[in-house]
Amino acid sequence: MRVLKRTKSIGMLVATVAATGLIPLTAGTAQAAPTGYAGSCPTAGTVTQWWHSGHDGVDIANNRGTPIHSTGPGTVIVSGTASGYGQWIRIKHDDGTVTEYGHMYERLVSVNQRVSSGQLIARMGSEGDSSGNHLHFEAHSSTSSTRGMDPVPYLRERGVGLPCTPGSGTPGTNFTTWGTSVRVRADARLSATVVRTLSGPTPVFVECQKRGDVVNAEGYSNDAWSYIPALGGYISNIYIDHPAAWLPGVREC
Ligand SMILES: [Zn+2]
Repeated sequence: MRVLKRTKSIGMLVATVAATGLIPLTAGTAQAAPTGYAGSCPTAGTVTQWWHSGHDGVDIANNRGTPIHSTGPGTVIVSGTASGYGQWIRIKHDDGTVTEYGHMYERLVSVNQRVSSGQLIARMGSEGDSSGNHLHFEAHSSTSSTRGMDPVPYLRERGVGLPCTPGSGTPGTNFTTWGTSVRVRADARLSATVVRTLSGPTPVFVECQKRGDVVNAEGYSNDAWSYIPALGGYISNIYIDHPAAWLPGVREC
């Protein structure tokens, strides 16, 4: 607990300085680079072709209509048709990387739409230059990348090993809570309904954060709250084990 208090106080220092109006609250964390995201399995099936010099992605084959999911939170930047792909989707994730999905028979998201990790985005098909129902999945380092990197280490770094089953296994996490009897609330307000109580430290995936009621605990105070989809609500950032009051690499809700 000593370490926690020390690191937590750094976040409080930022918050205290910000409260005086000298610097924006985000100033202390603005330089921190996002460090990937909590990944989700793109689709169930058999890997029929891995990444290699002549193939910029992996092919995962299954029945027509098999659900395809976004591997992480982000914004849809392409959803349409393309030569070779038939139909394709590109998603820019919050860490700057881009994932690409091809050959679907049905697309369920549109450009500029926000998607969460694991969200259903399409159904598998064999459109375009394809010899059977499969997902062609690519991972790119940025929107300006012209060649896909090997998706295997890309996904592994984000907690997903191929082949995989959507929604199974240990969901990716990016933070851990601390403290006991931590309440998860329906909104970032102390008057909001308690939807769950955490008995002890819990690995969680924080999808986004927002300002809400100020919470005081253990000598600290913080008005930022984390939204945790798997728990169906918000917890005060004071119970997130991280030195910053406003978590780096996590977007605002
Ligand atoms: Zn392919």
